[in-house]
Amino acid sequence: MQFARGLLPPHVKRVHHLPYLGPLLDAGMATILAFEIKEGIRSVVDPEFYYPHEDPDTDAGKIWLGPADDTILRKRGVEFVDGSAPGFAAIVGACPDPETAKMIVEDYQLKNLYIFCASGHNGTSVIEQLIEAGVQVGWNTRIVPFGPYISSAVFALGFANRAAMAFGGVQAGDYKKILVYNKNRIFAFVNAFGEVGTQWGAAAAGCVNWGFPTLADTDIPEILPTGICTYEHVVANVPHEEICQKSVEVRGLKVSVTEIDIPLSFGPAFEGERVRGKDLYVQCGGGKSQATELCKMAEMGDIDDGKVEVVGPDIADFEERSAFPLGVYVQIAGREFQEDFEPILERQIHHLVNYIQGIMHIGQRDIAWFRISKAAVEKGFTLKDIGVVLHAKFHQDFTKIVDKVQVTLYTKQEDVDKLTKRAKGEYKVRDERVETMTDEEEEIYYSCTLCQSFAPSHVCTVSPERTGLCGAYNWMDCKASFEINPTGPNQPIEKGECLDPLLGQWKGINDFLQGASRGAHTHYNFYSMVHDPMTTCGCCEAIAALLPTCNGVMTVNREYSGETPCGMKFTTLAGVMGGGASSPGFVGHSKFNITQRKFISGDGGLLRLVWMPKILKEEIKERLEKRGEELGVPDLYDKIADETVGTTEEEVLEFLQKVGHPALEMDPIIG
Ligand code: SF4
Ligand code: ZN
Repeated sequence: MQFARGLLPPHVKRVHHLPYLGPLLDAGMATILAFEIKEGIRSVVDPEFYYPHEDPDTDAGKIWLGPADDTILRKRGVEFVDGSAPGFAAIVGACPDPETAKMIVEDYQLKNLYIFCASGHNGTSVIEQLIEAGVQVGWNTRIVPFGPYISSAVFALGFANRAAMAFGGVQAGDYKKILVYNKNRIFAFVNAFGEVGTQWGAAAAGCVNWGFPTLADTDIPEILPTGICTYEHVVANVPHEEICQKSVEVRGLKVSVTEIDIPLSFGPAFEGERVRGKDLYVQCGGGKSQATELCKMAEMGDIDDGKVEVVGPDIADFEERSAFPLGVYVQIAGREFQEDFEPILERQIHHLVNYIQGIMHIGQRDIAWFRISKAAVEKGFTLKDIGVVLHAKFHQDFTKIVDKVQVTLYTKQEDVDKLTKRAKGEYKVRDERVETMTDEEEEIYYSCTLCQSFAPSHVCTVSPERTGLCGAYNWMDCKASFEINPTGPNQPIEKGECLDPLLGQWKGINDFLQGASRGAHTHYNFYSMVHDPMTTCGCCEAIAALLPTCNGVMTVNREYSGETPCGMKFTTLAGVMGGGASSPGFVGHSKFNITQRKFISGDGGLLRLVWMPKILKEEIKERLEKRGEELGVPDLYDKIADETVGTTEEEVLEFLQKVGHPALEMDPIIG
């Protein structure tokens, strides 16, 4: 008691406000010590008071179990170590009615938490309310009735201490390590239901010493800034419907989704599987309809974790062999989530959907393509399953940054169009984030090997002026991806000695490439499609091809299904080049890359471009005109031929001569 008294700080004046957590924590600790002593005395003077069993004997009125003995601690404590119980909710007081108590406690049970109860309010307690509502309480249902007093709440902290000592190797008395262990390993927090008097308030302050925050349903002084606890320390006025979600959020407890509840097998084994014509049931995108993917950050309170909604008809409503539009809209909220992470999660949709047996996914952004097999539909696949997969995997793979995931799947044309329009705006903003950066000024480039499951020797290297060929990853995105996942597919590469400034080749990149392609490639050039170009995989937004007669190049985008002057359609080109090879005369690239300053600069740059499909030309018109001006050819846009001019080299050449295309004046492209 003397020691506890010694911890008490001098009384604070009313005007004294809170950044000084230290004295408050000491006062809280003094309270906890006093509670411990009080309960110790109780067990001596009234040894029958608690009923030290796993479950109470409600018929005999023996509902309070008191502190956990060593047997219970060993049996239950281990669950806190192996993760089957992430932590506990310590509840003090009573809810307005038994139904509310039941709702809250069951919510915690669903999250696998233990519920440690103490004290009461207005002549009742959460435990008594639960018994009244027919809920089974006891260690076996993880609802533990510790005691009727606020001092019996100390048993929850005692449990935390002993778990740290028994399983974390922490020595008794090492309060700093106890804090660190509990803060990092035991996801516990306090819910205070009812009037928070002096003793409750002091207990709440005490719990901060373990890293356990308090959330109350009443108006008590809040302690919001982060210091000891992961986030806020004391949060007031939380409505009962929200207290579970809010507690989990404030404590930083991560939802673990272990089951992916879909009627099909799921996993990397199915990633490379194709859905061929004869197996196809329905499809979205791929030139047959519009398919768009967008991932956006949301406010915590604005989305419901795990909510998956299909707006419009689902698979069963479409005729076999038809194509329907699809918009996949993923909203993510997280304490640590940033807008910069959106493209990274969005890009995961590709391989995650491919992980579903019988479903094939190609492309990204607004040129995605979903192919759904008959076998999958027979097994009961619906669009909702896409959302279920994304929700589960985003939680599993991005635990650190993801707290909530909500997925909406649109299948009505007007909704998909609306989403696509919005998505295009978002893509533009993302693309332009690297606009002012140059390759020269950056020593670190990033690798991307996300596509190796389809194209094993393919290695993208992303520099500020050469975004990934899928268009979904630029230098910034790769950097953010590396931050989230330091051992993931995006590794920083020190570019090292420059071996060829014109074609864009560096020693550091070559060394990395050799390892990452497992010896398949020894080197490649960033800025050339003629000489040892970068490798190409099937995701590319566009493919450039040499047109020797025109002394220039053409490019064709995925959405354009017609003939091209190089004699191959996009699909043929992608089929030939898309396996991870470096094919001189051809290179896959993103649409945005066309107007980046380094686009095939080793071959003469943008002024070499003599033909591209009209839709692509129009899509990038504004930027194309700007680049033309920068290059001293303000009417470049009009000088580039498209399919309305012709789809043979001869027709294109005739046009180029007529308009005086700059490529005709340049050095021979193959020298
Ligand atoms: Fe990464 Fe390249 Fe695949 Fe895009 S195309 S995901 S940048 S490997
Ligand atoms: Zn790819």
